[in-house]
Amino acid sequence: MLGLMQHHPLLISSLIEHACASHPDTQIVSRSIEGPIHRCTYADVGRRAKQAANALSALGVQPGERIGTLAWNGYRHMELYFGVSGMGAVLHTINPRLFAEQIEFIVNDAEDQYLFFDLSFAALVEELAPKLSTVKAFIALCDRAHMPALDIPNLRCYEELIADQPEQFEWPLLDENTASSMCYTSGTTGNPKGVLYSHRSSLLHSLASCTAGGFSLSAADSALVVVPMFHVNAWGMPYAGALSGAKLVLPGPALDGASLYELMRDEGVTLALGVPTIWMMLQQHVEKGCLKPRDELQLNRVVIGGAAAPRAVVERFEKDFDARVVHAWGMTEMSPLGTVCHPLPKHAGQDLQQRLDLQSKQGRALFGVSMKITDDEGNSLPRDGKAFGHLLVKGPWIASSYFRGQGGPILDQDGWFDTGDIATIDADGYMQITDRAKDVIKSGGEWISSIDLENVAVGHPAVAEAAVIGIAHPKWQERPLLIVVLKPGKSASREELLDYLNDKVARWWLPDDVAFVDELPHTATGKLQKLKLRELFRDYRLPL
Ligand code: ADP
Repeated sequence: MLGLMQHHPLLISSLIEHACASHPDTQIVSRSIEGPIHRCTYADVGRRAKQAANALSALGVQPGERIGTLAWNGYRHMELYFGVSGMGAVLHTINPRLFAEQIEFIVNDAEDQYLFFDLSFAALVEELAPKLSTVKAFIALCDRAHMPALDIPNLRCYEELIADQPEQFEWPLLDENTASSMCYTSGTTGNPKGVLYSHRSSLLHSLASCTAGGFSLSAADSALVVVPMFHVNAWGMPYAGALSGAKLVLPGPALDGASLYELMRDEGVTLALGVPTIWMMLQQHVEKGCLKPRDELQLNRVVIGGAAAPRAVVERFEKDFDARVVHAWGMTEMSPLGTVCHPLPKHAGQDLQQRLDLQSKQGRALFGVSMKITDDEGNSLPRDGKAFGHLLVKGPWIASSYFRGQGGPILDQDGWFDTGDIATIDADGYMQITDRAKDVIKSGGEWISSIDLENVAVGHPAVAEAAVIGIAHPKWQERPLLIVVLKPGKSASREELLDYLNDKVARWWLPDDVAFVDELPHTATGKLQKLKLRELFRDYRLPL
């Protein structure tokens, strides 16, 4: 027997409709590319998303066609999030930090029909335009006064494009499984692969992310979205913001400590989301300027994901900001949220060190995500917090295949997706990543977690950033090398650092050597680029 409930497809257009109806006056604050702070409301975003949808229809955009964006976090990008997906086309957000050849590859692979871009990327677009064979027009996200002088045929101005369009648009009643947006993986090996999200997956992901076990996002929040809208839909925040009616603060291109601090202070930010490197820069800014975030900010939680949250960063948020870190884990193929770390009732009364231990775990699976760990043969491993193995996931917002089946099937016969991460899961379900499978250091048949070592190393007061890679060793197969960037004006010797690590990690994990560098290579999504590091240190020999 079927239930007798109404059937409404889960559509992205319903999110902005809800925000317009229930939170029309809530602000979306953007640091614009042109300079000044821009303020608008959900009602404005909804109205202009409809104008954008009308403009795309007038251009002849067909359902399912891909529309590219090369843009920072800002209100116009947000309008496209709802306008493009809402009208049935696919919003293809492109990471501008990728190499130009990679961008060329993915725009051509996705067959983007139109490309919307922020002024910061004008030169890049001019360089690439002749090679982007499917793109019919390039639309600069600005008004006429700010139009760049570019040598591109079919250059258009966004504000002019939407200006005369009607503010009414009937959002089509799409099948909820229709593709809504797409994002390419960074492609550290081989060509980037497209992950194609659907309206249904995006809606379910938004619902889960707003729950108390997720980001507990609500209309009481002012959320600083530092995670980029050009990668995995900024962890779904534009959608979750509209769903919950949270005020959104979008930092544009200014991601330095001073600019973020200013936004936090002036916009009453309660929740901020970003990768660890962003928060390290913010904390260094606070430290250098002797600022008083406890007195000046209303920040109460900081979501850290994309890479492991270093203990020292978590501790500083607690002590200096009076803000709780919410550690989260996920990946492009997972929309991205998989786990979020919150304490259970039994953790009440824990002291700071115990709390930090818990927060260094990546957390428990959100409703909707199933997880297991397996050994190399695919046998399930126990949830005892000790056994570590390949982390496999399943769920309605996890990819079933890449765009056009690239790379072949990605699920095993039971439907599990191998994340490429190595992890433990404890009896309470807390998952902890020990490494990427390809970064783990194999020493004498045992595994050493590069992530753990890095996180302990950045706790040293002179260390700005640290990376650990395995170096070939005649006896042990591989041994860890600690590579360190020191904070400006600070010093620490090899011996001092090894001494610092000595009582904090297992003896046999202690790095065999320390190398000092001016900077570490990062991927386009801000992660340590271990592949590059291993290349840079290919000829390096450990002291024996
Ligand atoms: P890309 O580097 O291609 O942009 P993703 O953004 O999808 O890839 O990154 C996903 C990977 O990032 C995960 O598989 C995991 O290795 C790492 N990651 C994400 N969050 C965390 C976290 N909280 N702790 C440790 N690693 C993380």
